[in-house]
Amino acid sequence: MQELLERKQGLHRTVLIVDDESIEREMLSAMLSDLYDVIYATNGIVALDIIKKSKSTLSLILLDLHMPKLDGYGLLKILRSNNELCRIPVIMLTSEKEAEVTSLQLGAADFISKPYEAPDVIRARVKHAIELAEDRIIILDTERDELTGLLNKDFFFEYARMLNTQNNNMPMDSLVLDINRFHIINELYGRSYGDMLLKKIGSCIHDLVCQFGGLACRSNSNCFGIYIPHFENDIDQLQHFISMIEKNLDDRKISFRIGVYTDDGSGLEIEQRFERAGLVCRNIKNSYTTCFEVYSEELHNKELYSERLVNDMDNALAEKQFRVFYQPKYSIKGSTPVLTSVEALVRWFHPEYGVIPPDEFITLFEENGLIRKLDKYVWNEAADQIKRWKDEGLNIPVSVNVSRVDAFNPLLVEILSDIIKRNGIDNNSLLLEITESAYSDNSQQIINTVMLLRENGFKIEMDDFGSGYSSLNMLCSLPIDALKLDMEFIRNICDNKKNYRMVGIMIDIARLLEVPVIAEGVETKEQFDLLENLGCDIIQGYYFSKPIPADDLTVLAKAGVGRSV
Ligand code: C2E
Ligand code: CA
Ligand code: CA
Repeated sequence: MQELLERKQGLHRTVLIVDDESIEREMLSAMLSDLYDVIYATNGIVALDIIKKSKSTLSLILLDLHMPKLDGYGLLKILRSNNELCRIPVIMLTSEKEAEVTSLQLGAADFISKPYEAPDVIRARVKHAIELAEDRIIILDTERDELTGLLNKDFFFEYARMLNTQNNNMPMDSLVLDINRFHIINELYGRSYGDMLLKKIGSCIHDLVCQFGGLACRSNSNCFGIYIPHFENDIDQLQHFISMIEKNLDDRKISFRIGVYTDDGSGLEIEQRFERAGLVCRNIKNSYTTCFEVYSEELHNKELYSERLVNDMDNALAEKQFRVFYQPKYSIKGSTPVLTSVEALVRWFHPEYGVIPPDEFITLFEENGLIRKLDKYVWNEAADQIKRWKDEGLNIPVSVNVSRVDAFNPLLVEILSDIIKRNGIDNNSLLLEITESAYSDNSQQIINTVMLLRENGFKIEMDDFGSGYSSLNMLCSLPIDALKLDMEFIRNICDNKKNYRMVGIMIDIARLLEVPVIAEGVETKEQFDLLENLGCDIIQGYYFSKPIPADDLTVLAKAGVGRSV
């Protein structure tokens, strides 16, 4: 771009004269050589060779029509069909009136009639053609993504709107294509490899819109937008499209996902159509089996519901619609189970939707960061409850859930320490559960946070152990105080030998790390017995109790019994 601007500000420009007659070449040269660097070719073949070699410095081609080997029309056609060479403007030199129209139709910028007119007129035509072409290149460069040559997002939306108007709102589909785990590919194989992939994908998408009509853009680093005429059978079409790219890339490391918003004739704004396609694309992010999905009414309603929950959140906090339930954990090491602690689990008592379970809003709030507010609220409620129990002579430690998002809060330790202090409780009574997948997603950040928390006296329980991808190596260096097995293993422990063995292995790991093992989701006597045999320390689950309100838990604790076994 900079180079183009400098050239535009009156620096050197090179003009190629292609003519087999030396007298003609000299005449033109005499008119132009004081203004331009003039180079020559005696026929189309020689010219093509020169053009390819000096394509980045050539400002204009003056092209004779009749030449041996490759004539003016032939060369012009080659230039226009080549992506890189078609940017160089061509002025045809001709003595035939009819040839003028044909030249312009073939993409010439202008023509100069032979015999040549006054030098001033020719110079003016040359100057004009160069200026026009340079302006066009500058415009093209601003509207295009440098790496892939596709449109950039703003121009893409603008042109899509124009396309709709010009085509009388012909049905068009909006596609968002994203590359799975692109940041990892970039990290593992380097940026230039990543760039090369993006270019190749960009070129496949370019071919697709050339073939079917439409527009394409690179909307951010590894995301592409495609606006193409609606196909009756989009599924087949998409499958064809995906396999086309995969074949072209021939790289097994790469896979894609595509979200589609199908034109339903409702005349939705272009930006919104792509937001919806993007939503679908994000929705299938963690799926190993789905590589494309079409926006549906169901997803639309889900989106509206999520939006409603996000909007209602602040008010719900103020009105205390979130209530904390407590689920007991029993130590099974002695002859009878003993209530050792409880887990705080939030529920939303929504005035319109009734009781909403946390699975419906936790992930949503993690996506937009609202979880930080909610977690802080729950921690405060839990600390307040610990204090109340303490006042009643009950010592019941409470585990609270700490979202992966909280780990990025630089004030986390301060917030928790402040809660402890204000309620006059100690850090042994407010335990922190952090899910294992948070460790594998961003291990260093979590490890740092966890270490800091432990330095400040907090106890950490690793939640959902077995659901993430922690390496043994990481586990050994990990500062934790308890392992909580993922419920999935417990669910099938009785019927699935593999799961039973896995639980055994996980309990061995806990022994190695010298931390107690908690099994949650225990519902039946059979599960309980197997876990007891394997040496599990603590049990949580419907077998003993569902999560219950604080007052019910108080009654349970005062009675001092778990289920008799
Ligand atoms: P989690 O931390 O793994 O919590 C255990 C979930 O298993 C709870 O679901 C609990 O009610 C359920 N559960 C307990 N025993 C059994 C059983 O025997 N059988 C079955 N089928 N389920 C059992 P819940 O309360 O719906 O919570 C779901 C998830 O929501 C939690 O999973 C946790 O990840 C998240 N969550 C809940 N409260 C909070 C919170 O305050 N903050 C954050 N960040 N996350 C929370
Ligand atoms: Ca938990
Ligand atoms: Ca869990």
